[in-house]
Amino acid sequence: MSDTAALVWKNCLHFIQDNIQPQAYKTWFEPIVPAKLSEQILSIQVPSKFFYEWLEEHYVKLLKTALTKELGKDARLVYIIRMENTFGNKTPFTESIPSKNRNSFNTQEVDAPLNSYVGELKNPFVIPGIKNLQIESQLNPNYNFDSFLEGDSNRLARSAALAVANKPGGTSFNPLLIFGGVGLGKTHLAHAIGVEIKEKYPDKTVLYIAAEKFTQQYIESVKKNTRNDFIHFYQLLDVLIIDDVQFLSGKTGTQDVFFHIFNHLHQNGKQVIITSDKAPVDMQDMEQRLLSRFKWGLSAEIQLPNFETRISILKNKLYRDGVTIEDPIIEYVAKNIKTNVRELEGAIISLIAQSSFNKMDITLDLAQEVVQKFVKNTKREVSIDYIQKVVSEYFQMDVETLQSKTRKRHIVQARQLAMYFAKKFTKASLASIGNQIGKRDHATVLHACKTVDNLGYTDKQFRKYVEDLSQKLTL
Ligand code: ADP
Ligand code: MG
Repeated sequence: MSDTAALVWKNCLHFIQDNIQPQAYKTWFEPIVPAKLSEQILSIQVPSKFFYEWLEEHYVKLLKTALTKELGKDARLVYIIRMENTFGNKTPFTESIPSKNRNSFNTQEVDAPLNSYVGELKNPFVIPGIKNLQIESQLNPNYNFDSFLEGDSNRLARSAALAVANKPGGTSFNPLLIFGGVGLGKTHLAHAIGVEIKEKYPDKTVLYIAAEKFTQQYIESVKKNTRNDFIHFYQLLDVLIIDDVQFLSGKTGTQDVFFHIFNHLHQNGKQVIITSDKAPVDMQDMEQRLLSRFKWGLSAEIQLPNFETRISILKNKLYRDGVTIEDPIIEYVAKNIKTNVRELEGAIISLIAQSSFNKMDITLDLAQEVVQKFVKNTKREVSIDYIQKVVSEYFQMDVETLQSKTRKRHIVQARQLAMYFAKKFTKASLASIGNQIGKRDHATVLHACKTVDNLGYTDKQFRKYVEDLSQKLTL
């Protein structure tokens, strides 16, 4: 790191610190490392892409003001993302992204390279006959094998994918069909194969395409009378990755053209990789001849990840994002979100974002709130009876005591907690809650809810009751 970069950044930090909340400063600015300064361009290193996106979205104005103060109106900012591929100590690589905010930073740089893979397939009909077919592979470099954690649920699919990546077209896994439920990593794994092949065999032409887009391109080509060019283009590939093939269900024209492309590639020893949300036997409205082709190679299922795998996926994600969250909270999230890795990651991202946005610590309570939003559809309804039972057990009293008219403090508190959770976890009206919890009126219930809310803020011991109980009630 150069001294001048460090100095400029230090001054910027002073300014930033004065202008935002301490928690936000700690979360988003302390981890940044100044890397270099050349002319009016300051490069800073951030721990992850998520981090960079967050800064761009929330703090770009502040950064601009700070930097302009230091370097004048031509000041510009470049982010360097430090990515560690694994927990091991492989050499990290970095990615440089000029701040996207052109106006505020007067940048003349081109678009962020990291985003280039999401671009449109620029020219799908490259003139054939040119030796080195120049196409953009449409691969996401972040979806690689290193970032795809292995577990019982994906071991077969992952190792088949690796075998294919090592020897595209040269294994019996052709086509390789990866299937499994939503959000379990099919797209990630499919990209990983492509990324690995491009790394090992830079000259091979690889194309990732979603079946939906393939269909659109085909329809377009029919309209423009370029159907043959379309087929020809795809037949020139070395590796074709087609994602979510179930999308072709019922689309006979597209299935037909895919069938021809597939045969051509397969006969020429080219690799085809297919993903689907269903096993071939369960695919409906798919031509039989296509289904039988799918069965030529290997169908590998990705199943639901078990608890350990969910934990390691979360920890890996946090590690990459440079964020620490306590184990019990990670475990809570992993325990409650079971069926979808995307949601698992989503919950964590939303947790980080919420805590940062509302300047709260990441507590179990916050985790519960966030997780609930993700699992609301699958959550079973808790009854008021059940709540009273759980609360009574927790305070080692029986339900009659909880409902009794006594004014003993600990019993009153238990009753208020039961009312609070009944309001929070059921759809019952205040009147009906009061009626079921010791025949009280709605005003008593309302008062109970407010009291619990207040005590939850001011009384540490009480907050612990709330957290414990809400965990018990949502498990
Ligand atoms: P699908 O295509 O099956 O719907 P994706 O491949 O889009 O699922 O995966 C959803 C998210 O979960 C992605 O962000 C992906 O990186 C992540 N993910 C899934 N499986 C794993 C895994 N085994 N290790 C790390 N991340 C994973
Ligand atoms: Mg997918």
